[in-house]
Amino acid sequence: MVECLFCKIANGEISTLKVYEDSLNIAFLDVNPSSLGHTIIIPKKHYQKLEEMPENEAKELFLVIFKLAKVIPKIVETTDYNIGINDGKLAGQEIPHLHFHIIPRFEGDKGLPIQSLVKIEVKREDLPQLAEKIKRGIENSAESKKEEGKEVKTEEKKSEDKKPTKSAERDWQEFNFEEQDKAPDFSDARKGY
Ligand SMILES: [Zn+2]
Repeated sequence: MVECLFCKIANGEISTLKVYEDSLNIAFLDVNPSSLGHTIIIPKKHYQKLEEMPENEAKELFLVIFKLAKVIPKIVETTDYNIGINDGKLAGQEIPHLHFHIIPRFEGDKGLPIQSLVKIEVKREDLPQLAEKIKRGIENSAESKKEEGKEVKTEEKKSEDKKPTKSAERDWQEFNFEEQDKAPDFSDARKGY
């Protein structure tokens, strides 16, 4: 017997306010919405986290999000929305079945942007090294696929030829902090919460 709430929704054991369904995915209105039109999109198969999904299924899931993002705001008469996943317990995942939220936003809704969820002090001077590490991590994961003899798609092969000519170090020197620092400061808004 399936215990997962979202698996039960996916296999029809629990009824829900469904707005979309195909062979792999299902979307429904959140029963405890953060805003009008708050929608949950899930793969029907049980994966707890995004990285557990096969790439082709992840693409299909993103296409559903893409479709809904074009429709839902219009229906609830707004233009803006947040899309997010709480991927894992530390990120606030309550139901251990991968799900995306689309949350429409409205003038004066007092909500905050996604990047205000957490604020950990990070030294700017450590960032170039981190960028390099991530780039290498991505390259290595493509490499390891090849070694395992798995199919490597044409796009992945092409992307190797398109390696950035500039290093992260150089990008960093050209990065305009002044522009970034002009971004609105939400710290006052946060105090109200
Ligand atoms: Zn599940």
